[in-house]
Formats: sequence, C-alpha cells, structure tokens
Amino acid sequence: MQEQDLKLLEVAWRSVTQRAEAAAQGRPVQVLAVSKTKPAASIRALAALGQRAFGENYVQEALAKQAELAGCAIEWHLIGPLQSNKCREVAEHFDWLQTVDRPKLVGLLARHRPDGMAPLNLLIQVNIDDEASKAGCQPDAIGPLADAIAGEPRLCLRGLMAIPAPAPDLDARRRAFARMRGCFDALRASHPAVDTLSMGMSEDFELAIREGATMVRVGSLLFGARSRE
Ligand SMILES: *Cc1c(COP(=O)(O)O)cnc(C)c1O
Repeated sequence: MQEQDLKLLEVAWRSVTQRAEAAAQGRPVQVLAVSKTKPAASIRALAALGQRAFGENYVQEALAKQAELAGCAIEWHLIGPLQSNKCREVAEHFDWLQTVDRPKLVGLLARHRPDGMAPLNLLIQVNIDDEASKAGCQPDAIGPLADAIAGEPRLCLRGLMAIPAPAPDLDARRRAFARMRGCFDALRASHPAVDTLSMGMSEDFELAIREGATMVRVGSLLFGARSRE
C-alpha cells in the first residue's frame, strides 16, 4: 500500500474505534472491519495496527484473502447470506458465521466443523423490518433455532445479528435496533451464555451502540467507498 493510503486507513480506524468506545460509555463493544471487495493488503495493514476481526460477504473472495494472509492473527466472520452448498467451506474456514436463519444450516454446519477446530461461533440473523428482499428469520423463530444450535457441540451460539431497512429517518432505524435489543434480552433469558448483538454499520454504528449493540460492522468508513457490492 502507498504511504498516503496507509495513513488514511490508520486515521479512519482510530476515529471509528474511539467513536465506538465513546458511544459505549464503558460497556465493551467490538468493531468488525468489513473488508468485502477490498484487497488483502488493506486487511494486513489494519491487522498490523491491532484490528483482529474482519467480516467478508462472499465465501470465495474470503477464501482467496485467507490464503494470502495465512499466518496473520485474524478472526474471520462471514456476514453475507449462506447457501447450504457452501456450509462445508464455511465450517472449515471461518471463526464466526453471522447469518444463520434456518434449521437446515445448523445440522450441515455442525456436521462439517472439523474436530480439531474450536466450535464455530454463530449469530442468528433476524429480519427485523420484515423485508421480503432480506435474509433472516422472523423474531418468533429465534427460540427454536437457538435451541437447535445449543444442542450441537461443534457450534457455539453467541447471539443475534440484523441489518435494519435503510430508512431515511434515523428514528425508524433506532426503533428497529430497540426491537433487536428486546429479542436479544429474551434470548439471553433462556441462553445466558449469549453475549453478542451485531447491528450498526458505517452510517449508524453509534446509534446502534446506544441501543445496545455489542458489535458493529463497519466497512466504507474504514476502507473508503466500495466501487461494487
Ligand atoms: C457491507 C456490509 C456492512 C458494512 O457496510 P458499510 O456501510 O460499508 O459500513 C455491514 N454489514 C453487512 C452485513 C454488510 O454486508
């Protein structure tokens, strides 16, 4: 990377982590760096600054970067929708999957998670604004899915993830975050080890943290705008 780009990346990363910590007011909060469409060199540069967790949307793109970055201490999260024919690759190559939304995936992931690896960390994706176009389960499906995951020793239920509808007014988004917080509290009542509520992106991560997010997924604010999705 060019010296100038490195400097920009470092300034952006320090600003996002500081803003996230300020919004959390002493609660722990984790920033996931969303590196889809960005080169391995950018990931390597952020990892060198101390960023550990990176999110990718597409399995093949992620596997190529993982091969380039073998040896870097990176925690890999898949945050894009998962097709059942990719479960094996995900179970073999990721630390976290944030988009479980149906029972079929649970059995497949458990079957393919290698014995020598730590259990695969899972978040249940919730379609909190009930959008036809979006992945995720309905809130009333969280309980049965959580029970299925908790019954699999090769999987570890960590919590919930959501992508609220891109509402122009922030108050609609705030209400969606608050509904997710309600789902999260309900889940924790039956699964007390659950610790992660993943919501909020570049545009609204501070709002999400104030509404209870423990993990925010930030891409363009760190790496710059994406030329393609
Ligand atoms: C791309 C993406 C992000 C990051 O979006 P930015 O607006 O660039 O921060 C977060 N979460 C998911 C699921 C994404 O696909």
